Parts: sequence; C-alpha cells; structure tokens
Amino acid sequence: MSGRVVRLILSIVMFASVLTAGTVAMAGTAHADGCYTWGRTLSQGSSGEDVRQLQIRVSGYPGYGSVLALDGVYGAATAAAVQRFQSAYGLQADGVAGSGTFNQIYALQDNDCTPIHFSYAELNRCNSDWSGGAVSASQARANALVNMWKLEALRHALGDRAITVSSGFRSYACNSAAGGSSTSRHLYGDAVDLTGTPSLCALAQRARYHGWREILGPGYPGHGDHTHLAHKPSQTWSASSCGI
Ligand SMILES: [Zn+2]
Repeated sequence: MSGRVVRLILSIVMFASVLTAGTVAMAGTAHADGCYTWGRTLSQGSSGEDVRQLQIRVSGYPGYGSVLALDGVYGAATAAAVQRFQSAYGLQADGVAGSGTFNQIYALQDNDCTPIHFSYAELNRCNSDWSGGAVSASQARANALVNMWKLEALRHALGDRAITVSSGFRSYACNSAAGGSSTSRHLYGDAVDLTGTPSLCALAQRARYHGWREILGPGYPGHGDHTHLAHKPSQTWSASSCGI
C-alpha cells in the first residue's frame, strides 16, 4: 500500500475510535450538568470526595430517625441510603452507585448543585451572602445545600407535591427580627420552616424518615403555623398535635 492509502486508513480508524469513545462517554454521563460528574461506580469500601458528593445527594434517605454521615466513606449506612434512593425512583435497588443512580441524580440537580425543586435564594431570604450567622458563610451555604437534598427526598416521598419554605438561613440580625431563639439552628443554615401544603403534620411525620434531628411542629410552643426541620447533634422531635 502507498503511504497515502495507509494514512487514509489510519485516519478512518482514528475517526471511528473517537466516535466510539464519544458514545461510551455519553452513555455514562448523559444528563451530567454543570455541577458535578461522577467518574466511577461507587460501592461499599469506596472512599473519597466523590463518595461525599454522593452522600450529600442521598442524605435524605438515611432511614427512620437516622442521619447519614457525610464522611466520604461508603459504608453500610451509605449503601442502605443509596438503596432507598434507588427504590424511591424505581431503579434497581442494589446499593451500588453506578450510571443509573448518577443519571437520576443528574436529572434531579441544577448547575449550582441544588436539587431542581429548591434554590439557595429560597433557603436564604435574610441576606445575599450568607454572612452574620453562627458559622462561616460558606458553611451556612453548605449546610443549606444538604438540607435542600433532604427536602427533595421529603417532597418526593409526599407525592412530589410542592413544599413551601417560609424561612431558612438567618443572620443574628434576621433571627432577632424574626423572634427566633438565640440558639436557633436557622443561624447555622441547616433549619427550614415549612408552611402551606402538604399539612404541617404530614410534613413533620414524614420528615422523621429523611434525616432531620430537630422536628418541631403543631403542639410545640410557637409552632402552630409552621413545621421546623433542622440538623443538630442530638434528637429533638416535638409536635404533640401530630402524635410526635
Ligand atoms: Zn424554625
């Protein structure tokens, strides 16, 4: 063969392999967006930042009364949370996070990493930069992100009905103006007050399955008109009018 023919054949082969590679990449990342793209299948024994990113997305699936640790270590609790997430979305529930699970997450997340039904603006009606609370602005914002993924799980469990967040992060100034307690979790960015529908009791009751250690609702002083959900070190659930 002449050198020219060889070069022609080589370029056809290279073009074909580029096409093939492109197809393979798309199969695994079809809905990847501007936020985060996983590059490998994760399962029990995996560890790293990609595991921690996954844990944030499935933090709303820890099981009744539990909270999933966001430690970057894929242990039994993470596998169980992934399994519940998979079941919730009709995926094969094997507790292994592969392309099916990641594609479901991509479909649920916006470019800024928030779940599609919630936004940073909704979680902070106090100020524009998340400053002035009990933790750094970046920590408050990160706490709010985790809370939004829990809210997405709660929303899905309640039949994908819209949930109204009336208050989220508060600086000390905003918290005083709202009459919040001086130790309010709103100062940390990991608290939300919910109003409207579903009912306040339906929200409080179902929230027990989705990763909140603090649930205060109807029957608890000052909570007749909203259900408050937050993260905190120890469990405090009180909504006596809802049987909690
Ligand atoms: Zn509250």
